Amino acid sequence: MVRGTVVAALIVVLAIVTAVPTFAAPLPIPDPKPKERIVDPYPAQMPAAGIDGQYGPTGGGFLTLPYLGDGHFVSSNFDHCGPTYQVDGVICRFDGTRAYAGNGRDPEATVGYAMTAGKSDWLFYDGHDGWDLGLYYEQVVAAADGTVTYADWSTPGCTTCSFGQGVRIDHGNGFDTLYGHLWRIDVSRGQRVSRGQVIGISGTTGASIGEHLHFGVYRHATWTPVDPFGWSGGGRDPWPDDAGNLWLNGTAKSPIIALPMVAAKADATGDAGTDVAISWSSPGAGVTYDVTQYRDDELGTTLLSRSTATSTLVHGDAGHSYWFLVTALTALGESDANATPPVTVFGSGSPNQ
Ligand SMILES: [Zn+2]
Repeated sequence: MVRGTVVAALIVVLAIVTAVPTFAAPLPIPDPKPKERIVDPYPAQMPAAGIDGQYGPTGGGFLTLPYLGDGHFVSSNFDHCGPTYQVDGVICRFDGTRAYAGNGRDPEATVGYAMTAGKSDWLFYDGHDGWDLGLYYEQVVAAADGTVTYADWSTPGCTTCSFGQGVRIDHGNGFDTLYGHLWRIDVSRGQRVSRGQVIGISGTTGASIGEHLHFGVYRHATWTPVDPFGWSGGGRDPWPDDAGNLWLNGTAKSPIIALPMVAAKADATGDAGTDVAISWSSPGAGVTYDVTQYRDDELGTTLLSRSTATSTLVHGDAGHSYWFLVTALTALGESDANATPPVTVFGSGSPNQ
């Protein structure tokens, strides 16, 4: 848990250092204490067959969740009763749950309605055409293989409009996915991407009141929104354009990806005790490594960049202390970093020998 936090923080720091925004918009600074507005707990289990195919052909389950790991909540649902951003006073979730404006509105966000009259069990939100997922400056990954057809601000020159920075992927099977409110985009238009590939970092750009990822699924030809959960409520799906349950194997799961996790060590060696042998490793497909060397309190110097090597030897100067930061990057863009413990080089006649 501590390691995860450290790595996440490191990713944010690295992202700040390396981010090259398309526009000179001020980068949103992550709130160190996010106020998570948990509106609706993430449904743990989804029915496998959304609507029995009765409202149109099913696309076949092909999507995985647009993030890695588990534990993210849903902050807003797809509204089957008019996912067109028109406010009609009723919100309909895929499982048949309904909330009405007449039951009461969330005073903090008036497009959220109570499921039970007079209670504060808000459902969000009226007219929403996708799923809002509680991501906080985290890696966003492609929900299936496809081609990037859009990777830019939704409205050129406007950092507070619509979905902000977004990526759209054409999956070649009649469906597109959209990832909105990104803080950073890591892919470009025309690029082929694979399931689980990092396409950016989530954020809160565009018309957004807090950090989250907007995940939308659309018919490619008409840009008609569909709910990847399909419809499992009683009666007919209020949204006639739905395409059934589009999740791979019928359940919303993160892709199974071999994630990098760096192990690194450094030891003083050599006859004079002034060499430092460094070695490292990490799971993951197509891993390359960056290795940065640090001496005492000095700034780091790059030792290796995008290298497939897993060891090296450097010469140290007696009386100095060395440590090394190893960053692993997989072919899908997932990364992890870890540092060796510091090694003090004593030189000839030293405890190293
Ligand atoms: Zn949204």
